[in-house]
Amino acid sequence: MADKELSALRRLPSVEELLENPALADAIEQRGRRLVADSSRSVLEKLRRRILAGEPVTPADLEPGRLAALVGEEAAAVYKPTLQPLINATGVVVHTNLGRSVLAEEAIGAVGEVAASYSNLEYNLAAGARGSRHDHITRIITALTGAENALVVNNNAAAVLLALSTFAAGREVIVSRGELIEIGGSFRIPDIMAASSAKLVEVGTTNKTRPADYGKGIGPLTSMLLHVHTSNYKVIGFTAGVGIGELVALGRKHNLMVMDDLGSGALADLPALADEPSVFESLASGADIVTFSGDKLLGGPQAGIVIGRREAVEKMKAHPMARALRVDKMTLAALQATLALYLNPREAVRRIPTLRMLAETAAALKPMAERLAAGLKQAVGAGVGVQLQQSASKVGGGALPLLELDSWVCALSPVSISVDELAARLRATDPPVIGRIHGGRLLLDVRTILPEQLDETIGALQQAVSQG
Ligand SMILES: *Cc1c(COP(=O)(O)O)cnc(C)c1O
Repeated sequence: MADKELSALRRLPSVEELLENPALADAIEQRGRRLVADSSRSVLEKLRRRILAGEPVTPADLEPGRLAALVGEEAAAVYKPTLQPLINATGVVVHTNLGRSVLAEEAIGAVGEVAASYSNLEYNLAAGARGSRHDHITRIITALTGAENALVVNNNAAAVLLALSTFAAGREVIVSRGELIEIGGSFRIPDIMAASSAKLVEVGTTNKTRPADYGKGIGPLTSMLLHVHTSNYKVIGFTAGVGIGELVALGRKHNLMVMDDLGSGALADLPALADEPSVFESLASGADIVTFSGDKLLGGPQAGIVIGRREAVEKMKAHPMARALRVDKMTLAALQATLALYLNPREAVRRIPTLRMLAETAAALKPMAERLAAGLKQAVGAGVGVQLQQSASKVGGGALPLLELDSWVCALSPVSISVDELAARLRATDPPVIGRIHGGRLLLDVRTILPEQLDETIGALQQAVSQG
């Protein structure tokens, strides 16, 4: 180590010395000595690393007031909420990393009300006695879908886990090799099967599975035939699968349960969703249990919805794991309010942001894109090229992977910084803006920008450009 570095290291105060600094007295009073000591350690460690990396550290950097300010900031940051709203300009409507669904106003209102007060969550007002939280949601789901019974749990992964645990623990479940899906890295059919103590029996091949393949897999330990919607990929070419209708016929013949994991749960009749299996069709085919997500194509809160035969769903409600997977009052309120909008399908498309974004035509999006382009140009002048152009948005959320929705984007080409740098700066604005990089430009897709966020998007680009 060079002498210069050694002497710089020697000039660093100790944690104890820093804590004695009067400038930190307030921070210690407000946030406690332990957190401020941790923050001091962290600030000193960062300085030590800078010195060892040969970076210049001036006496001003080590001035006690300056160090105390850094420690104060570090301690304050711990208390700052990290979960924050942002602007989704990716054009991916159901973006799992960006929180999937934006709730309808009615749902937001319902969450606020139930959060701010006691409620009859598990209290039967008519009887003046204990009630069940399931009762709040069962009726509206059965009314909407025509199912005999319904149950809501934490998410669709939980719905599948609970169904397998209830009906197939210690027994065998038959799944086509073409349907052994992975969703978002952590939901994998073989793993969820193992977690529920069910034994997976694979039949058929990746591209072709026939009813006879299921027949060969059926044995004395078989409990269930499971159909899984391959929501986030498509096998094309020389393919054959067994539809839910055929599977139900096979299940009846062998006296086996049939379950359909739909994934996205399309309840709305939108052209964009034409290729997505509908909840109604799955039920009409006679599946005993059907599961789907609350926050994918349904446009509600994160939840897993189970519908199906009365006794089968009742058995799931009674399983000990149902308690561990149950939803809280805020989810129930949001889901109830979202589903209520579905009773009037035309209203649902207007009021539920996910459906509205999926339904929007390119022609309808163009005026908003023009307003955005004009605002961006005015905000950044010559620093960034702004070009209005047609592009394609995606559904996302592991649904309809091949579908492209015609859309309009503002394509940004920065003059003096790289497009990656511009994207990084936009991720750091308040609120952050997330676009997508394509062909060396940063695209802002208006399909997923909420109308009330248009001005903020313009402001964010101005912030990002003026930072330089
Ligand atoms: C998305 C998906 C799941 C998991 O649903 P979550 O609500 O994300 O838990 C399970 N199965 C299929 C087919 C899916 O598409």
